[in-house]
Amino acid sequence: MTTVIDRIKGFGVTFREMLQRPVTIQYPEERRVLPPRFRGLPVLVVDPDTGREKCVACGLCAQICPNGVLTMTSEPDREKGRRPVTFTLNAPRCLFCGLCEQACPERAIVMSHRFELSSDFRRDLIYDKEQLMELGRYIYDDTRVEADTKNVGTRI
Ligand code: SF4
Ligand code: SF4
Repeated sequence: MTTVIDRIKGFGVTFREMLQRPVTIQYPEERRVLPPRFRGLPVLVVDPDTGREKCVACGLCAQICPNGVLTMTSEPDREKGRRPVTFTLNAPRCLFCGLCEQACPERAIVMSHRFELSSDFRRDLIYDKEQLMELGRYIYDDTRVEADTKNVGTRI
């Protein structure tokens, strides 16, 4: 049975918490700084010197992906040996596990800080090579990263 003392103790807890700083934020106007190792959408890294994808189409990321999310086609390349012609990420099935990033010998696919991925249409969430490169280029571009540090990381 609740006694008066228990109630006073309960109110004490309430008043104590009222004096604490709020832990909630006004998203999306306010955003938390994400931890450096946050795993958002996997993206393809673009070499800033050449403007080309770093990917050499070895296929390791697609092989290790537990959900078969990544598919690609490739062709021979004079400089890199091989290059991807198409590279598709089926984001709705992605587990954001990061295994593709770990398997990649070129650090050509990385987990970005992009997490706002909702859409009314499933087809909008199937990313092709150009889209993944655009997001990867975004990571490299420091000025744009600075403008949007809450969404996209600076991990490279
Ligand atoms: S994060 Fe995991 S599930 Fe998503 S593409 Fe990479 S390996 Fe596949
Ligand atoms: S593991 Fe890296 S280099 Fe190999 S296909 Fe995937 S992204 Fe390209």
